[in-house]
Amino acid sequence: MKTKVRVEAHRPRRQLDATRLPTMLGFADSLLRSEGAGLVALDGDFRFTFWNGGMERIAGLSADQVMGRRAIDVFPFLGEQEVHLVRALAGETVAAKRQRFTRAERDGFLDGYFTPFRDEKGNVVGVVCVIHDLTAQKLAEEQLGETERRFQNMADAAPVLLWMSEPDGLCTFFNQSWLDFTGRTLEDEWGVGWAAGIHFEDFQRCMDTYVMAFNARRVFEMEYRLRRHDGEYRWILDRGTPRYTPDGSFAGYIGSCIDITDRKRMEGELRKAVRDRDDFLSIASHELRTPLTTLSLEIQRLKRSLGKRSQGILKSGRLERGAEIAENQINRLIMLVEELLDVSRLASGRLRVEPTVFDLSDLVREVANRLQPSIDAAGCALSVEAPAPAVGSWDWLRVEQVIANLVSNALKYGPGKPIEMSVTRETECACLRVKDYGIGIAPQDQRRIFHRFERAVPMSHYRGFGLGLWIAREIVVAHGGSIDVDSELGRGSTFIVRLPLRAA
Ligand code: ADP
Repeated sequence: MKTKVRVEAHRPRRQLDATRLPTMLGFADSLLRSEGAGLVALDGDFRFTFWNGGMERIAGLSADQVMGRRAIDVFPFLGEQEVHLVRALAGETVAAKRQRFTRAERDGFLDGYFTPFRDEKGNVVGVVCVIHDLTAQKLAEEQLGETERRFQNMADAAPVLLWMSEPDGLCTFFNQSWLDFTGRTLEDEWGVGWAAGIHFEDFQRCMDTYVMAFNARRVFEMEYRLRRHDGEYRWILDRGTPRYTPDGSFAGYIGSCIDITDRKRMEGELRKAVRDRDDFLSIASHELRTPLTTLSLEIQRLKRSLGKRSQGILKSGRLERGAEIAENQINRLIMLVEELLDVSRLASGRLRVEPTVFDLSDLVREVANRLQPSIDAAGCALSVEAPAPAVGSWDWLRVEQVIANLVSNALKYGPGKPIEMSVTRETECACLRVKDYGIGIAPQDQRRIFHRFERAVPMSHYRGFGLGLWIAREIVVAHGGSIDVDSELGRGSTFIVRLPLRAA
């Protein structure tokens, strides 16, 4: 009520008969009492002539404190020529909406209705005001605004994507994280715009889930792919919950989403690991059973042969051949069990390398000699070329295992074909090459065969765990070296192992 207008000329000087007021305004006061509204009357000099209980509460002043005093003296902020009072005194009925007024402790807000007060001849002799205190309502509105601002801030700072829909199902809110994720504006996402980002394969399922839950006012959870700002579709877990107003009526849904792409990938990897383990166990039990069966058959045969020997009808060399077969099968079993033990050692990080100084060429020749019976059995011819010593500090037994594995593979995948081994010295490492003329390996398989359980041949044709090259690589890497393959399908393979000459 601070604006002032000079309308002095219109102000009548007639005075109100104060004794009539209580009777005249008492009725109005009783009508207004239930609303807690203020009712005041002022005379032509703007002195208070009526001041009801409602006004006492609103202004915090009793009737005794204000009656007969001028409005400007009681409320200095009004000024001499308060526009609404002046206009009402000039005969106008005026509404003053949401006026700020100052009270002792803080500002308040009120609606005021100013009406001219006339005597029986119709002359304006004063002003009657009805005052509604809006302070509490305004405060509540401000608090609501503050709560909304706080929610917006929290929502924008949240690491999850948030959305909100209205009772008609249309989305009207997306937090900053959502907009940053999709790289779209609030206008783009508004209503059903957000659905444009959902992968077409997931779209219908999502819509069905949302609509069904929405109609039943149920909490829902769904997974779908949502296009990120860079065009990549990411898996999202979206959980929607119905919202209700304080009076219990349905207000729409609020949903929070998290990116579960990495979790899903890990789940996939975990599932694959479990599948691999199960496959491995069945292959392992099969692989272990094969030499055991051969061994038990051979022992039965040997027993029969012993019987024949006592009868003097045993063919010469039969016992020796039987013992050799049994020994081969036992060696095979030992190798398989060793391979299995290595898997558990590697998985638990217990593969230890114990280096001693030796010449790699010596070790290669020794392995070639040891494997000669198997080489002969496979009908292969093995040559070793090691023109100069290649001395380094490595784990003899582990490197022996790598070489034996590569030669065994050359025999398995290239029976009847030559195998060439060579040892050379390079600047900083010793280099071993194992070359065969067997089935070869397709380019797309050449990397993965060094991984656990990876094989590039069918089990029905070639037995094996798919572990040998993985173990070989782990051993070589533990020495600070490397293992590679150079191969062409149908033409053979060359495995190249490099071991550093200086201790790793
Ligand atoms: P396994 O021989 O028991 O399957 P490895 O880890 O030794 O396991 O080998 C993995 C795969 O690599 C084999 O299954 C085979 O497909 C391929 N491979 C290994 N060595 C050779 C080779 N010399 N020639 C052709 N393929 C080979």
